[in-house]
Amino acid sequence: MKSLLLCLLLLATAPTFGQEPSAKRISRHIEKLASDHMQGRGTGSPENAKAAAYIARNFKKLGLTPLGTDGYYQPFTAKIRRIVVPDSLRKATNVIGFLDNGAPYTIVIGAHYDHLGLGRQGSSLETQPEGKIHNGADDNASGVAGLLETARYFSGNGVKEPYNFLFMAFGAEELGLQGSRYFLNNPTLPLAKMNCMICMDMIGRYNPERGVGIGGYGTSDAWPTVFKGVESPIKFFTDRPGNGGSDNAAFYAKQIPVLFFHTGGHPDYHKPTDDPDKIDAKAEEAILRLEIKLLENATQQPKMNFTTVQ
Ligand SMILES: [Zn+2]
Repeated sequence: MKSLLLCLLLLATAPTFGQEPSAKRISRHIEKLASDHMQGRGTGSPENAKAAAYIARNFKKLGLTPLGTDGYYQPFTAKIRRIVVPDSLRKATNVIGFLDNGAPYTIVIGAHYDHLGLGRQGSSLETQPEGKIHNGADDNASGVAGLLETARYFSGNGVKEPYNFLFMAFGAEELGLQGSRYFLNNPTLPLAKMNCMICMDMIGRYNPERGVGIGGYGTSDAWPTVFKGVESPIKFFTDRPGNGGSDNAAFYAKQIPVLFFHTGGHPDYHKPTDDPDKIDAKAEEAILRLEIKLLENATQQPKMNFTTVQ
C-alpha cells in the first residue's frame, strides 16, 4: 500500500521533472512527421490530416485545452494558386491548444506542419518534382517538434506564468501562409489579448558558422529587455524585420510583436532530400532552451507594445 502511495505521489509530481527539451524526443517527432509514410504532408492529402491528428494527440497528452472550432481543429479551405491543378481547393486545418494560466494576455507559439507532398502543389525546387516525396524534415517537422517540446515544457513545469500560451500548428503555409491568415481573420482568441507571437520554421539545420537567426527584434521596444543577459551554448543573432519568412508575417501584419527562429537555407530546401537524417537534433534542443529562456523573460515583462520596422 505504502509503495502504491509513493508511486501515485511520484506520478503526481512527475510533470515538474524532465520537461526540458530533449534531442531524443525532437528526433522522434521529426522521424514520425517526415517519414515516407507521411508522403510529404501535402495540403488536402490524408497524410496531412494524419500529421494534424498526431499534433492534436500530443496536445491532448499535454493537457492543453482545445481552442479550435472543432476540438483542437480549426478547419478551412485552402487554395492552390501557384500552379493550375484540377483540384485547387483543398481541405486544411490549423491545430490549436491553449495553456490557460488565468492571465489577461497570451503568448502565441506557432509552427506550420504542412509541406509540399508529392511535388504537385507548386514551389518545389526539384527539376522534376512530380511524384517524389518531399519529406520536409527541416521544413517544417523541425518547427513542429519545437512547438511540441515548448508546449511540453510550459505545461509540465509546474509554474503558473503571468501569461497564457496558445500553441498553434498551421496548415497550408506552403500555399502562402493560408492557415495563419485564416486564423487571424477568424481568431478563436481575441487579437487584442495577444502579447506576442513566436514562430519556428526550419530550426533543424544548425550551421555553427551562421548561427540561428532570430527575426522580429525590431517589432517591439520590449525585445532588447527580453534578450538582455541571455546566453546560449549555440551561436545566435537577431534581425529587426518580422514581416517575412513564415507565419509570423501574418501576425506582424496585425501589429502583433513577433520573433522568428530559423537556422537558414541549405541545398535541400524545398527538395525531396530534406530528410530526417540531416537534422541536428542536439543543436535544436539548445535552440529550444534558448527560446524558452527568452519566453520566460517575456513573461516577466508587462504587455509589449508593437513597433513597425522600416
Ligand atoms: Zn516552412
